[in-house]
Amino acid sequence: MARPRALITGGAGFLGSHLCERFLAEGFEVVCMDNLVTGDIRNVEHLFADEHFHFEKRDVTEHIHVPGAVDSVLHFASPASPIDYLELPIQTLKVGSLGTHKALGLARAKNARFLLASTSECYGDPLVHPQSEDYWGNVNPVGPRGVYDEAKRFAEAMTMAYHRFHGLDTRIVRIFNTYGPRMRLRDGRALPAFMSQALAGEPLTVFGDGSQTRSFCYVDDLVEGIWRLLNSKEHLPVNIGNPSEMTILEFAQAVIRATGSQSGIEFRPLPVDDPKVRQPDITKARRLLGWEPRVPLAEGLARTLEHFRARLGAPPAVRGGR
Ligand code: UDP
Repeated sequence: MARPRALITGGAGFLGSHLCERFLAEGFEVVCMDNLVTGDIRNVEHLFADEHFHFEKRDVTEHIHVPGAVDSVLHFASPASPIDYLELPIQTLKVGSLGTHKALGLARAKNARFLLASTSECYGDPLVHPQSEDYWGNVNPVGPRGVYDEAKRFAEAMTMAYHRFHGLDTRIVRIFNTYGPRMRLRDGRALPAFMSQALAGEPLTVFGDGSQTRSFCYVDDLVEGIWRLLNSKEHLPVNIGNPSEMTILEFAQAVIRATGSQSGIEFRPLPVDDPKVRQPDITKARRLLGWEPRVPLAEGLARTLEHFRARLGAPPAVRGGR
């Protein structure tokens, strides 16, 4: 029997590359599409030896042509860190809007299932805590993060329109803060910043007073949630994230502990519209998918550290810790 075939846009990015691995392991043929603006070919180089893996360097905001059958389209292409949105505001808007339209159009032409990578940013600086899927959010459309938030909100609306109007078989995952190997070192997000700084013995740059909260999910848990969602029948958005909430100051201290670093903390101004709190309500994912995260923070940080040491050319951890 022919293998099922998946198109993963943004497949050379942090999340995309982990999805490529998972779909190959599940017996799929994988077409990984990425224009490498924020993706990195090193994230998928190890898959080139697999005859079922195909890489296409292409911009998903232009017409995409994929010959042959496609069973699943996973739209993960997008700049994904606040620094990226500042540097690539138009591309961020285009990939969320035009890119989603093209990916939906391809799914429709191929009669494929479509899964949109959406985001907790749809909730903006939330006035409801924790955030459940029925909360409509508190987003500033004209602030610096608006380009990402509004593009993803548009993408959700477009996905539901294709579902309702064209009968396309769609899924929407709202992804909360996720970390793990293959995050870009200089994407400005909390984990890559803190881990690079801790490994270099530099102070960790905590924005504001560090009392803002986030809830960090290890990438393997996220991928499991996405896999289960794709195989469910739910068309409305589902939160996937780790509900264990902590302040950013606590998170910085956890990274210092995990790295065994002597680094201190340096406080910097809080970026505009930085959400004050964020925690997923995962009741829906638990009920519909039987899913919840399993990897504790200390273990996830230890696994991530190996990746950062390798990319930074730092010596590997000595057994027994430093
Ligand atoms: N942050 C920080 N120092 C950094 C990078 C980020 O204190 O060097 C803070 C940021 O202000 C936010 C939190 O960490 O409150 C998470 O930021 P990130 O960029 O990882 O993702 P966000 O959840 O804001 O999209």
